[in-house]
Amino acid sequence: MIKLANFSSIFIANWKLNGNTEFINEYYQKLLPNSKNCVVVCSPSIFLNKLKNNNKNLFSGAQDTSIYIEGAFTGELSAKMLLDINIKFCLVGHSERREYFNETNETVNIKSLNLINNNIIPVICIGETLEQKEKKITKDVLTKQICESVPDLSNFENTLIAYEPIWAIGTGLTPSIQDIDEVHSFIKDIDIRFNKFKVLYGGSVKASNSAEINSLKNVDGCLVGGASLKVEEFNKIIS
Ligand code: PEP
Repeated sequence: MIKLANFSSIFIANWKLNGNTEFINEYYQKLLPNSKNCVVVCSPSIFLNKLKNNNKNLFSGAQDTSIYIEGAFTGELSAKMLLDINIKFCLVGHSERREYFNETNETVNIKSLNLINNNIIPVICIGETLEQKEKKITKDVLTKQICESVPDLSNFENTLIAYEPIWAIGTGLTPSIQDIDEVHSFIKDIDIRFNKFKVLYGGSVKASNSAEINSLKNVDGCLVGGASLKVEEFNKIIS
């Protein structure tokens, strides 16, 4: 398993359902990882092998995995298969998967456990809707998500948490800088076992706000969707 402690910050690109061979070849040619930060590109699974890498800070990551280990489950991709092609990170429980593909805290927990058992770091995504924020129940929502989604076997060395307020994903809206810091601090304090976890922020991160967000004491990196599709913009974010 990758040693997360070796990196001061972790930046994850989530390409979602975007990209093709030409785009990817050009992207990897132009991507400029640096020596102190960990950079992970989560491409669609068919392109996971496209990263021909000799940089120890740059990784290809998956966007999802199966709850199953092997067998008659057409269309699925197991954690063991990800390990087989040397994948070190995998997103789990992204809000789009929770909303469109019936992902639940329970399935996130099973997937994360499968990943850890295969030496792959799950990036467990949590976040509140706008309605929940307006009802002022963000902390209750996050507590339930964390307690139910994070397997008992998880620790700060084998698991990452990504706080992604759903209302900030792809909208151009972000919480205030104080709110981000407060929520991240809250997450780390939900239980003593989460104290040392690295918590990434996601939701409309771009070159113009990433440095400020990432400078927060309780922010250990960023998960970037839309802005990660433009390599020049992503290069600025990770620099
Ligand atoms: C995401 O989908 O994980 C995300 C953070 O998207 P965006 O950066 O586009 O808000």
